[in-house]
Amino acid sequence: MTQNPEHEENPAAATSGSHSGSTARQAAVTEAVGAGIPNAIAQLADLVRIPSVSWSAFDPADVQASAERVAALLTGTGVFDSVSIARAPIGESDTLGQPAVLATRAARNGRPTVLLYAHHDVQPPGRDADWETLPFEPTVKGDRLYGRGAADDKAGVMAHVAAVRAFAEVTGGDFDLGLVAFIEGEEEFGSRSFSNFLQQNRDALAADVIVVADSDNWDVNTPSLTVALRGNVTFRLTVSTLAHASHSGMFGGAAPDAMLAMVRLLDTLWDAEGSVAVAGLTSTDAATPEYSEEKLREEAALLDGVRPIGTGEVLGRMWFKPSVTVTGIDAPSVDNASNTLLPSVSVRISARIAPGQTAADAFAALERHVREHAPFGAVIEVTEVDMGDPFLVDTSGWAVGEVTAAMHEAWGVPAVEVGIGGSIPFIADLVRVFPEAQILVTGVEDPDSRAHSPNESLHLGVFKRAVLSEALFLERLDRRG
Ligand SMILES: [Zn+2]
Repeated sequence: MTQNPEHEENPAAATSGSHSGSTARQAAVTEAVGAGIPNAIAQLADLVRIPSVSWSAFDPADVQASAERVAALLTGTGVFDSVSIARAPIGESDTLGQPAVLATRAARNGRPTVLLYAHHDVQPPGRDADWETLPFEPTVKGDRLYGRGAADDKAGVMAHVAAVRAFAEVTGGDFDLGLVAFIEGEEEFGSRSFSNFLQQNRDALAADVIVVADSDNWDVNTPSLTVALRGNVTFRLTVSTLAHASHSGMFGGAAPDAMLAMVRLLDTLWDAEGSVAVAGLTSTDAATPEYSEEKLREEAALLDGVRPIGTGEVLGRMWFKPSVTVTGIDAPSVDNASNTLLPSVSVRISARIAPGQTAADAFAALERHVREHAPFGAVIEVTEVDMGDPFLVDTSGWAVGEVTAAMHEAWGVPAVEVGIGGSIPFIADLVRVFPEAQILVTGVEDPDSRAHSPNESLHLGVFKRAVLSEALFLERLDRRG
């Protein structure tokens, strides 16, 4: 675990303004952020105490309580014309999704509008026994704040609040930049009402720049701007060969069992190196930062003697190439295994899709592959399909230049442009509804944050630098004609 307390004070931040007339205001923003951090951390801890798990098996009253707390925080900044809690229906149904918080302030004098996105719901905590501190009891140990949502993504929520607050303080609330805060309440449960929410609140949400504060940083001393995200395709694959089970001693060796067919079919998904071998799944060719096989071994916890899979640059394999993983299997357990030929076996296939290909296209390639490679004429069924498109930022937009400059000022080192092997499927919805907006994916996490896992935590130095980056970014945008 890398920690760097001496990075806390960053004298460069106060003096590196590119517009000389703005240096004083930047210095004031930097000071206001620093002064506001203890309060922001205390309010973040209060948010963490609300167990706002958005999954259907958990109490929705907690998600509502967390929405109300977030709305109060946004109202407290004093700069929004309106703050409301709203829900949208899920898909075609009448059922409403979890509450989101929406706050708006109109732009003046031709200045741009920036939308700040984060989510206030969290993943289920899992078993308390797997945590060193209780998941909903925020605890500071060393440089880190532990708790479910301390990083993902209540720190993103508080980064927006603290940045807006600091900027409001310095300007006395008198600024021209348009602001929208959109704090979702069901990101961790598939953003089921997200696309309806966008349609229903299209005018209120319209912005020139969208900041999605739900990703991570290169390390605790180096900021990242996430410029590529893989998409995903998951489905249930069922292979059947027999109308009913039979005694393996009687028919084994002549009648094909479903497990044999499934194993042989799955084997065709990869080549001998472990690279995906599905015709029609594409890769993107793009440069990646240096990342050694050693680092992979350490961060992914490969056992001694186990070799990495795939070919080419390590990060290129995770950011710009597809991957296929079997994440579950329905078959008799080992303890219950009898001497039977299985008639039918199901697995969950989880594929990651490289930027540059649509998820629908990738699904078509995967489905074609499993049908064409069915061994022994086995019956193939593909059901429960779920998809999210990949995302690739056009880094030539002006907002990328502004945010990376703000990050450089706040952290004292340049930002690394990174890809993410995982997916943020709702970004595809944002791109579809707001094709003109520039989308910037930032974040408050670092490689040790363990989002979604036990002992999730936030590095408090990273939090401060993330707040400062965003406050300086707002200050810059407010100067853009
Ligand atoms: Zn998140």
